[in-house]
Amino acid sequence: MSLAELRTHYSTQVNPEEIGDEKVSLAGWVHEVRDLGGICFVVLRDRDGRAQVTLVKKKIDRELFNFARKLIRESIISVTGTVKPEAKAPNGYELIPETIELLNEAESPLPMDTTGKVDAELDTRLDSRYMDLRREKSHAVFRIRHEVLNAVRTFLSNNGFLETSTPKVVATATEGGTALFPITYFDREAFLNQSPQLFKQILMSGGMDRVFEIGPIFRAEEHDTRRHLNEATSIDIEASFMDHFDVMEILEEMVAFVYTEVKKNAAQFLEDLEIDLQVPKTPFLKLPYSEAIEIVNANTDEKLTWGDDLSTLAEHTIGQHVFDKTGEEHYFIIDWPSEIKPFYALPYENDPEISKSFDMMHRTMELSSGAQRVHQHDLLKTRIENQGLDPDGFEFYLKTFRYGMPPHAGWGIGCERLVMTMLGAENIRDVVLFPRDRKRLSP
Ligand code: ATP
Ligand code: MG
Repeated sequence: MSLAELRTHYSTQVNPEEIGDEKVSLAGWVHEVRDLGGICFVVLRDRDGRAQVTLVKKKIDRELFNFARKLIRESIISVTGTVKPEAKAPNGYELIPETIELLNEAESPLPMDTTGKVDAELDTRLDSRYMDLRREKSHAVFRIRHEVLNAVRTFLSNNGFLETSTPKVVATATEGGTALFPITYFDREAFLNQSPQLFKQILMSGGMDRVFEIGPIFRAEEHDTRRHLNEATSIDIEASFMDHFDVMEILEEMVAFVYTEVKKNAAQFLEDLEIDLQVPKTPFLKLPYSEAIEIVNANTDEKLTWGDDLSTLAEHTIGQHVFDKTGEEHYFIIDWPSEIKPFYALPYENDPEISKSFDMMHRTMELSSGAQRVHQHDLLKTRIENQGLDPDGFEFYLKTFRYGMPPHAGWGIGCERLVMTMLGAENIRDVVLFPRDRKRLSP
């Protein structure tokens, strides 16, 4: 017998009206055993849901009845039998077994509760992620993440973007920061890339016109916050013959599309998480940096001046202000000082203090940064030098600006922050299968 025959259906695929006397096999975990003496219920759980296996003592083989009663929770079983409509059971049917095959018995006691009845600490859950994922609420998060990425790919492909992959092992820092993980690459030093920025720009010179990448980024920053990871997933785009406003429009439309698709395709999982998802209205508010700092100065003790970065308190204050005014959680902060944006952000020609850059925000945190890029070789080289970096390290990048580089723009949005804010998760680690942070390197 092939292993695939252990299962003819997922629990949610069985329709008792249609199936008649046909034999059905389900495979999964023993979620629960309820032994009421004369009747015993075994709840089988598979990836998509649950099924009730009903054994009536008087009507069933005594040996099978006793076997079922003694099943240990979370063991793996395959049950074959016929189905009967039962309105009170999950998916509207019960399975009357002919055979129950025990494929792999679980040890007992379990390292953590999987029924959702006991709330475990995040750390405990992450230590036993394989167990935690069996909880409905944890599973739901990753089903939604799947829909998010699916929607991103659909949206970007439909808008002419080509999916690409660029190296994660690199020789130079993207932005020259110190927040890089060094690694040994044969007899040389290399780094884990913090962003695909330089590569996606090179692809503009290569004529790929519109590209996107969904991939890991590594940041060796020693944060200990609810919104930072040391390994995150970045959704990046770069597009030729577009300015910052063009790519902001792509970003806001993509976010709205993702929300719409999740609402449509993951309704069950939103319900499991008790989330009533509101699709954000486009276009998002575009707030100039200069006005954003005025909001902070008027509402907090912070006294920000041109060129200051926004603290967490500042981000919260602006986000709340925007929400109170518009009822929307997403907005842009535009026209940032050139001095606090990376060298590749293009300054306005008539006012080089200001750059054609933006951050896309959600009420309490940044979701995305983007800009129209510098496409002129000499200006780019000067900006690299002015930021105290050595242009020699950037030669592989700089030279691609000398032989036909179109004007272009792009952004990067953190996948985890997108999912986290969508679900209102308290901690970014909740939406990562195996988070990497200062303390956590395993599992
Ligand atoms: P922040 O200021 O919030 O630390 P950043 O400005 O350093 O973010 P960018 O370099 O602009 O981040 O990266 C673009 C996006 O990638 C961010 O807006 C965020 O969504 C995501 N991102 C960046 N760093 C991290 C991280 N350490 N953990 C999780 N997501 C991240
Ligand atoms: Mg940023």
